[in-house]
Amino acid sequence: MTFVVTENCIKCKYTDCVEVCPVDCFYEGENMLVIHPDECIDCGVCEPECPAEAIAADNAPAATDFWLDLNRKYSELWPNIVARKPAPADADEQNGREGKVSEFSPEPASQEDDQDDAVSEEPASVCNQ
Ligand code: SF4
Ligand code: SF4
Repeated sequence: MTFVVTENCIKCKYTDCVEVCPVDCFYEGENMLVIHPDECIDCGVCEPECPAEAIAADNAPAATDFWLDLNRKYSELWPNIVARKPAPADADEQNGREGKVSEFSPEPASQEDDQDDAVSEEPASVCNQ
């Protein structure tokens, strides 16, 4: 079993989940995160932390084969992320918007931003759902 990041993370990417993962198994693409299924220890602590409700256990309806395969594939290709970063400016507007799967970017996150973007304070944005 593993936990899986699903569609609503696309363009939300609040990264609250990253802070709580005890094994640092999140990987960062240009506009979403994924979980490495072989590194995830199924603790489940990230699921309620996600303001976008984008994380699901692999036996939940939201964790379709499409998202399971996407998490596995891109966790091998994208860089590891271990600290929270500022969410995109329009993250709250993107939260819950339908049809985002067509906007998924296979590109990895830019590494140049990492040093500047790391934040330790509580995030200002919260889910409006
Ligand atoms: S908290 Fe949710 S929306 Fe934010 S990066 Fe993690 S999975 Fe994506
Ligand atoms: S379930 Fe636990 S180990 Fe797996 S990604 Fe979430 S916080 Fe990390």
